[in-house]
Amino acid sequence: MHAAPSAALILFGATGDLARRMLLPSLFGLDAEGLLPEGFRIIGTARSALDDAGWRALAAEALGQAIDPARLTSCARDRFLARLAYVPLDVTAPGGFDALAAAAGADAERLAIFLSTAPSLFAPTVEGLARAGLAGSGVRLALEKPLGHDLASSRAINDTVATAFTEAQTFRIDHYLGKETVQNLIALRFGNALFEPLWSAAHIEHVQITVAETVGLEGRGDYYDGAGALRDMVQNHMLQLLALVAMEPPAMFEPGAVRDEKVKALRALRPFTAETAAAFSVTGQYAAGAVGGAPVPGYGEELGRPSDTETFVALIAHLDNWRWRGVPFLMRTGKRLPERRTEIAIRFRPAPHSIFAGAALQPNQLIIALQPQENIRLTLMAKQPGLDRGGVKLREVPLDVGLANAFADTRRRIAYERLLLDLIEGRPTLFVRRDEVEAQWSFVDSLRAGWAAAGMTPRRYIAGSWGPSAAIALAERNGASWRE
Ligand code: NAP
Repeated sequence: MHAAPSAALILFGATGDLARRMLLPSLFGLDAEGLLPEGFRIIGTARSALDDAGWRALAAEALGQAIDPARLTSCARDRFLARLAYVPLDVTAPGGFDALAAAAGADAERLAIFLSTAPSLFAPTVEGLARAGLAGSGVRLALEKPLGHDLASSRAINDTVATAFTEAQTFRIDHYLGKETVQNLIALRFGNALFEPLWSAAHIEHVQITVAETVGLEGRGDYYDGAGALRDMVQNHMLQLLALVAMEPPAMFEPGAVRDEKVKALRALRPFTAETAAAFSVTGQYAAGAVGGAPVPGYGEELGRPSDTETFVALIAHLDNWRWRGVPFLMRTGKRLPERRTEIAIRFRPAPHSIFAGAALQPNQLIIALQPQENIRLTLMAKQPGLDRGGVKLREVPLDVGLANAFADTRRRIAYERLLLDLIEGRPTLFVRRDEVEAQWSFVDSLRAGWAAAGMTPRRYIAGSWGPSAAIALAERNGASWRE
């Protein structure tokens, strides 16, 4: 697909945390490599009463913090800052959008618009854009997560967006899809003939997806307490990873084909009931403890009030289709866990019979690590060197694809660089379609309803541990154990 590149970007939430830490540094990265279109302008907007110079100063400071000084030459920085303009605007106040339309000028028909604001502001923003003539057919709109807090609110947001923008113009961000390793999962599965014959219940015992954080609330308590681990991590990032692992091969690497297969996998997720929520999930909330040797307070203390929000969730998902019949997908995520680790582990079934008397055979595992390092590892049994006079000894050894080494000559980009470039150039494959988001919410809502019906509340776990001990029992009841 060859869509025309956008001529300018309007960035809502231009003074916010995400803009400073990720979006401005990513746009700088694209500019430094000559990837932004000729004359491309970046128009920032938020309520703060800044002018162009004020926002440029904010951006310069953000770049100073995020970009390696060797790449932040004064020439590259000044060229980037010259692209920036700022329009102060309260999206809830009528009328303010005219100034934005004036700033967009002749580019109004060829805009990329990025909403890096709270979702409660999406509706007035979309209405304001439409009124000011900034929602023409050549405009693309990117939306940050969270897209609602349940299926109904997500539909309401999607309906509002749809009053002004078609689905093809709507780019829903899940920044995990901008990560190289996540895209590599598609390459690994469909660029090699090796895995596909093994990629099913016949050969895979279970799949584990872990997103472990060491951090607590990081000053985002109000947002997080209203969301919790299930909405913050499982609903979006983890279900997208699950969809990429579980989907059928698309016929082409093309937006419609890839997203059709992902949504089919998501729709095959078995909804929870009160009984299955209690049997197949565990929630937790961290109590005071220590992470990395430093004492940390409990969740309620950090938040400043008692709360029943879960900071940990472990669950077993099942997909009701031929490929995955009977294969548990173990998912767990939490804050204040012992290490920062994001990975997908595919555990194959054990060898049916050992010919090596006395040697324990470990099942093969394919581990796709996203954090702290991106790498792909296949564990194999290999003979330990020796004369074998007391019998052959085997040991598990990794076959490693250290992406950092294999592609040492390629700069590792921030996920948002890829996503912003795809937005500007109109490539939607790595954005989440409406039906995917809604399938994700249906599954997550069924679990939340199950928790309520079963009267489940989060169990306490000590900060710095791997969550409540009930999570360990949950895995074991399902014939697995968490990788630690
Ligand atoms: P933030 O730091 O609170 O920034 C919010 C931005 O919205 C600010 O620029 C703020 O600027 C602007 N704003 C607030 N009310 C406004 C109004 N009435 N009219 C116009 N602008 C308004 O939030 P953030 O952390 O950058 O997050 C932005 C979005 O990204 C949120 O949806 C968040 O959930 C999502 N997100 C953030 C992260 C992250 O790491 N930060 C990660 C994933 C997703 P003024 O105060 O100047 O108006």
